[in-house]
Amino acid sequence: MNDCLFCKIIGGDIPSKKVYEDDTVFAFRDIAPQAPTHILVVPKVHIPDCNGITDENSDVVAHIFTVIPKIAAAEGLTNGYRVVSNCGSDAGQTVQHLHFHILGGKALALQMA
Ligand code: 5GP
Ligand code: ZN
Repeated sequence: MNDCLFCKIIGGDIPSKKVYEDDTVFAFRDIAPQAPTHILVVPKVHIPDCNGITDENSDVVAHIFTVIPKIAAAEGLTNGYRVVSNCGSDAGQTVQHLHFHILGGKALALQMA
């Protein structure tokens, strides 16, 4: 996906503030943080959004959810945090590469919609 922003970040073609990387997952600070801690966790493989998760690629999503608590602990989010994935235009998805927002560092508003 040559035209995908997050693929370019994963590949190092666009700089980012990396917080975690392994063979299949990359995590970096959001450029426009919505909370004191705002990190994006993405699979290295290009999956457009939650609708692109299949039996064949869901292993990486399961792995992401083992990485998220490690990042949260490393960031000191001992009081809790929120994990969000926007899927499609009604959800406000702006980058078409599956990503999970980690938001924390303060008491977050409870608004869900
Ligand atoms: P979405 O709205 O698709 O759920 O989330 C996309 C996120 O990517 C937004 O929070 C936005 O601030 C972030 N973002 C967009 N462009 C860049 C960029 O070039 N670098 C980083 N680090 N984050 C970005
Ligand atoms: Zn991509």
